[in-house]
Amino acid sequence: MKKNADLIERIAIERMDRLFELAEAKTKTDTKDAERLARKYTSILKQISLHYRIRMPKRYADRLCEECGRVLISGIDCTVRSSGGYLVYKCMCGAEKHVFYKKKFAKAKG
Ligand SMILES: [Zn+2]
Repeated sequence: MKKNADLIERIAIERMDRLFELAEAKTKTDTKDAERLARKYTSILKQISLHYRIRMPKRYADRLCEECGRVLISGIDCTVRSSGGYLVYKCMCGAEKHVFYKKKFAKAKG
């Protein structure tokens, strides 16, 4: 039973990987239709995560807008600035995402 669950999780993560790659590629293509497709792919990605109860890998979670579902690529559909140990991604829809990046320095200080 455990082996089967692992297999299902692995396949789901493979699908999520592929969907994220497609969404990223479509975001870089600057057409209205491509943007619609990219959002569709990210919504399917979220549905897979919910359906199989798999935590969304951090490599995607940090790069998706929670409000509109866009893939956050600096210079295309978001701006990035640093603020007190966080990277602040501001999406075109106005939503902000704070991603902590100062982990190593925080440990060094004690
Ligand atoms: Zn957004």
